[in-house]
Amino acid sequence: MTKQRIREWVQEYSANGVYVSFSGGKDSTVLLHIVREMYPSIPAVFCDTGLEYPEIREFVRSFENVEWIKPKLNFKKVIEEYGYPVISKDVAQCVFDVSTQARIRECDKRETPMWDRAFNPESEYAKKYPTFSRYKYDYLNDAPFKISHRCCDIMKKQIAKEYEKETGRKVILGTMAQESRLRQTQWFADGCNAFDSKRPKSKPMSFWTEQDVLKYIKHNNIKIASIYGDIVYVDNDGNEYENTICDEGVSLKTTGAERTGCMFCLFGCSIKGWDNLARMKESHPKQYDFIMRPSDQGGLNYKAVIDWMNENGNLNIQY
Ligand code: SF4
Repeated sequence: MTKQRIREWVQEYSANGVYVSFSGGKDSTVLLHIVREMYPSIPAVFCDTGLEYPEIREFVRSFENVEWIKPKLNFKKVIEEYGYPVISKDVAQCVFDVSTQARIRECDKRETPMWDRAFNPESEYAKKYPTFSRYKYDYLNDAPFKISHRCCDIMKKQIAKEYEKETGRKVILGTMAQESRLRQTQWFADGCNAFDSKRPKSKPMSFWTEQDVLKYIKHNNIKIASIYGDIVYVDNDGNEYENTICDEGVSLKTTGAERTGCMFCLFGCSIKGWDNLARMKESHPKQYDFIMRPSDQGGLNYKAVIDWMNENGNLNIQY
């Protein structure tokens, strides 16, 4: 099915009219493998945000025909100008919109219609969606630092759109519906190939699961970035096996990082068990020191940001 969707995309735009968005992560590595087996000349594009693990950058360098594109602003500038990406895209957007509205209307943040819709548990919206979880994040409106959802747009989306405008190429992405509710909704609405959307996109792995990706890598013996470690089978008791005769009752996992993505992202930080920073402290101490250091010492001030969130949001973000 995935190959069929890729074929349809290439038939519409030609092999020179499409590209693979390649992050160096395992999903897009699988996608690139499938695409290049079918059409070896299709280019890949890597967005060099400066937030990727060094192992990922090194891995991407080992591929041919990959174009590196760079955003106009670096991450430090993005958090200074717009704000930190904390909790989730949805929550960060609400905080950003509330503060923007308050600035425009010169009123208290809690007097804006946006605050009422997003954070007031007594609002009409809250009554309509009683389990909606943003209400517990109202305290973020008092944060002594900026919060925003704009980082992904500026660091990744804008630059990809500019590349597409310059080259006329249409993107093939390795994203999956399983990853988020938004991706699932988009897949239900558009299917794998969104020919008619404002920015046409092909997502031919939409219906894959994480296990499908790991299985594909294992069975095809594909090289993935070293940060993932090895892929092993694990049974219900947690025993690990390099190989099995029968894969019934076992699942696959990576022995290193489960996911890669941006090193400094704080989306997901309130989820129980989130330990990205604590792991970075061990694995990448130089980068860890840089982000934790106060801004006036050239760092990104993460220690102060997390201490404030832990204290005021009653969280337990590890670092
Ligand atoms: S994943 Fe996080 S750090 Fe990376 S670009 Fe998006 S918001 Fe920024």
